[in-house]
Amino acid sequence: MPVPDGLGAQLREPLFDRIALIGMGLIGSSLARVCRRKGLAREIIAADSSAQVRAEVGGLGLADQVAEKLATAVEGADLVILCVPVGAMGPVAQEIAPYLLPGAILSDVGSVKTAIIKAVTPHLPGTVDFVPAHPVAGTEQSGPAAGFATLFLNRWSIVTPPAGTNPQAVARLASFWQGAGANVEVMDAAHHDLVLAITSHVPHLIAYNIVGTAADLEQVTQLEVIKFSAGGFRDFTRIAASDPVMWRDIFLNNKEAVLETLGRFNEDLSALQRMIRNGDGKALFDLFTRTRTIRRGIIEQGQETSAPDFGRRAGET
Ligand code: NAP
Repeated sequence: MPVPDGLGAQLREPLFDRIALIGMGLIGSSLARVCRRKGLAREIIAADSSAQVRAEVGGLGLADQVAEKLATAVEGADLVILCVPVGAMGPVAQEIAPYLLPGAILSDVGSVKTAIIKAVTPHLPGTVDFVPAHPVAGTEQSGPAAGFATLFLNRWSIVTPPAGTNPQAVARLASFWQGAGANVEVMDAAHHDLVLAITSHVPHLIAYNIVGTAADLEQVTQLEVIKFSAGGFRDFTRIAASDPVMWRDIFLNNKEAVLETLGRFNEDLSALQRMIRNGDGKALFDLFTRTRTIRRGIIEQGQETSAPDFGRRAGET
């Protein structure tokens, strides 16, 4: 009986013989689960720098082998995916480079693309195809227990091959992501970084900022902030609970696009400030009407639920 999880039947033939997943947190462990569930690779090898994570991965049975050494993990792998924080991509690539199988595809799932391409490419032998990618899917949770096989289902995976990348390797990696349930878009790395700055990075920065401001307010106690937290603030706290290492690395590595987007954001915020000061109700109403249609569009494209409060408990404000 097929499992009714939306992922469909297993592939008749695995796409890869051996996949090595380096970094077994939320994304790495979700990939391991969907690889197993869909039969995307004959063998799954997992590696992580943390002994505790390796033990957890072993306990959960997420891989056929859990390797302590990265060199052992990538041995004989025809697909290697780096699922470590953005700042660790370069050093990990340097460590595994001499052990990569000629003809292998190396990919990553990092949330920033230009900086990763710059950090990884110089270490790689010419015999390996590097095809960077970013699954636009995640939660505020970390670690192998937080992962699930349907994380990428109906989400976008953005593939950002540098100029001159072997098109066959790009097509194989695209098939892999489609096998994991994702939609695939191929994009230039710099454009990816600009798009994600507005859709993901700056929204996270705003959430970190507003939760930080609330925590530091002199006139309202922290206890009151927690006790009387309304829906709007609670949604920000969910985002602001995201992994500090991951997000530190994103802001350090997508500096230009984030600062450019933030500049524009500040101008628009000043305009809003003026509308409030001047009592310009029409301008406020018009803006809030336009923003509503954006949310409708996201729901229509199946990227969000239309249930009130994101489908959480009903009746709360
Ligand atoms: P995570 O849950 O924190 O997992 C990262 C794992 O990598 C941790 O187990 C970490 O071990 C391990 N690690 C760190 N440095 C390592 C190294 N040098 N060698 C081997 N393992 C190492 O993070 P995640 O959410 O899965 O994110 C992983 C990547 O996916 C990041 O690049 C992120 O930008 C990207 N991404 C995340 C999301 C999301 O929403 N979470 C979405 C799309 C893409 P320790 O815990 O011991 O450091």
